[in-house]
Amino acid sequence: MANIFDMTKVELQSFLIDKGIKKFRADQIFHYIYKQFIFDWNDMPLLPKADRILLEKELPFHFPKIISRQESPDRQTVKILLGFRDGNTVETVLMMHNYGNSICISSQVGCAVNCAFCASAKNGFIRNLTAGEMISQILAFKKYVTPDLHSIVIMGTGEPLLNYDNVLSFMRLIHEKDTFYLGYRNITLSTSGIVPPMYELAKEGLPITLAISLHAPTNELRRRIMPITDTYPLEDVLTAAGHYFNQTGRKVTFEYILIKDFNCTAVCARQLAQLMSGKNILINAIPINDNYDVGLHRPSSSEITNFITYLQNHNINITLRKEMGSKIQAACGQLRIQRKNI
Ligand code: SF4
Repeated sequence: MANIFDMTKVELQSFLIDKGIKKFRADQIFHYIYKQFIFDWNDMPLLPKADRILLEKELPFHFPKIISRQESPDRQTVKILLGFRDGNTVETVLMMHNYGNSICISSQVGCAVNCAFCASAKNGFIRNLTAGEMISQILAFKKYVTPDLHSIVIMGTGEPLLNYDNVLSFMRLIHEKDTFYLGYRNITLSTSGIVPPMYELAKEGLPITLAISLHAPTNELRRRIMPITDTYPLEDVLTAAGHYFNQTGRKVTFEYILIKDFNCTAVCARQLAQLMSGKNILINAIPINDNYDVGLHRPSSSEITNFITYLQNHNINITLRKEMGSKIQAACGQLRIQRKNI
């Protein structure tokens, strides 16, 4: 059965016409959903009762259930656990910045990529999320969406480029005037470096920000925490990133989790400076949160500073990312999935 959150206004119009409902009702329905955050046909009094009854039967709202909500002590980060009808759950995180609110969306239930530092991958891949299921993650934060929604980062559970069609539909949908009217420049898609769809994405010509998880300066080191390196080695990832920049004019961001005694040593700093020398890119360094299960630990402040300073002194564009949400397991690589009976 169709999910209204998957639909563009034009798609809803043809659905309505097909059911004998007037086309202009789509304007009213979109206004109810995206401006008033109403997800129940009975609460849409502008629609005739007969239309509401028909829509309740033909296009029921399947809004996910908010199972839990956690707020960080500084109240800047909120994490919710959403439950879908099939019993699967995903986490979504809201981050309140001084320039506006940003929401981190999950694109899959579980993940097949299996990065060593990532809690999301522990139960493997379960299924893709639809565009509508991604939209409902934004709508679940309704009171923070208007007028302060600044950006969407597709950086939660899942590898977005392994759910390419749905993620693309999602990005197009949130850009529509009748939904969130979010600029493509305010959307960041984060990938572990799945090379073929990076070329596809470049062809779309959307000026989104592409963020690539790098996390190590050599294939040898990277494959120890990111087994995907065996399929897509660094050389191929960097060539695809260069192509993306040439096609879109958008500077690619590389995410680099700093792990003690592993990837932020003096040797790694030299190797990374060499790898990125002359490239028009940005590196986002993020100290890892201690993960005792897999034995990965946060470097000391001086190790972090030495690493960043070395790269900056070698003309590499690198910044230390502000960390948010680590107290509620909402930071990078900390989202988990749980299966619940809804
Ligand atoms: S970091 Fe991203 S790509 Fe890697 S396992 Fe976690 S969700 Fe998947």
